[in-house]
Amino acid sequence: MTELTKTLELKLESPNAHKRRKLRETREAYQHALQDAFNQNCTTQTEANDVVVNYDLSGYAKNALKKYVPQLTTTYNADELHDDHPVRFTNEGLRLDHKPENAIEWYVKIPHHEDYHLWLPAQPNPEQRDWLEAVNAGDAEMGESRLFEREGTWFLHVTTTREIKKRSGVSAEQRTAIGVDIGEASLVTVCHRDDHGSPTTPELWADEGKTVRQLRKTYFTATRRLQTRGSERIAESFGDDVWTQIDNVFHRVTREVVEYAESIKNPVLVLEDLTYIRESMDYGEYMNRRLHGWGFAKLHAQIRYKAIEKGIPVETVNPRNTSKECHACGEVGYRPRQATFKCTNEACWVDEYQADVNGAINIADRYLSGESYSREHTDGDDSAEDGGRLTAPQDSHADAETQQTTRGTYAS
Ligand SMILES: [Zn+2]
Repeated sequence: MTELTKTLELKLESPNAHKRRKLRETREAYQHALQDAFNQNCTTQTEANDVVVNYDLSGYAKNALKKYVPQLTTTYNADELHDDHPVRFTNEGLRLDHKPENAIEWYVKIPHHEDYHLWLPAQPNPEQRDWLEAVNAGDAEMGESRLFEREGTWFLHVTTTREIKKRSGVSAEQRTAIGVDIGEASLVTVCHRDDHGSPTTPELWADEGKTVRQLRKTYFTATRRLQTRGSERIAESFGDDVWTQIDNVFHRVTREVVEYAESIKNPVLVLEDLTYIRESMDYGEYMNRRLHGWGFAKLHAQIRYKAIEKGIPVETVNPRNTSKECHACGEVGYRPRQATFKCTNEACWVDEYQADVNGAINIADRYLSGESYSREHTDGDDSAEDGGRLTAPQDSHADAETQQTTRGTYAS
């Protein structure tokens, strides 16, 4: 086992004037306390405590200062302080919450001062979605966090750690590619080719696809009805409950996908590249064909972090036509029914084939043909530069019905 550390980058989504003022107050109190303890040359936690205790800050910020100031004065021997130190909080101060039904899915709880905190919607760095899922599921630990402002935008960086199994040193060509297809009829389908090249042991999570569809339907009908009646609070807690149930299904399925991979010698899990999908396809059309934008991203992220935890590599490939091409001859066919692929090539032995399995084999084959993008995040390098790399998230494409229901306790 080795320990991986990564700094999660969260951009706080346009806090209102009230919340911005609170954030600035926290920062000012923190800077003063830091400067004060530094000027008094506090070299122990006790000395630092005597100074910072007088400031109007949360215990989490004070505790972080108690640890930090002695480091500055003794270890780093700093002569003077930069004036834009981020506000540090100890790990207990922060909470993360996920509300996939909202247009902005993630929320963070930031301590303000004693007994008072702020809930703020936050956009994660889309490349770190797997870590966020791991933290949210309790499979990665949060450490210290740092709050700061850059050019009018507030960011929160959170140190996170998790234990992973070391990957075996087998080369990419020696690995068995397992294609992972995420679809509508079957929530997830996996398949790979045996030593002779024949597709073997496909596994489909079709019942789970049905369960998730039903839960989503229940959610949208029930919350719409509750909202029409003005029962916003009930609608919200009902919604939380339904999405938790969906997430539980996702976690079970993604764990089983990784177990499937573990049962195969030298596996590599192959997924479709989400970035590529966004750039090169009609997104609306594509997503209609899919379960749901966030569901797709969420399943990917969960598979990714659970696989890496077990030392199984994950690669992505170009998704174009993976569901339309015949895995045997490569010709573009069609789907007479959702679950059926039909090859139109008369010379091909395939007539009809299970559509999701056909897709999964195509995905696996793209890896075998060398067409994969190594976008691995497994090296544990902590390359976060404060705020610099944050871009718009890739997986917040909530569909229209989701956006209609954007409201919540955080919006106070
Ligand atoms: Zn064919």
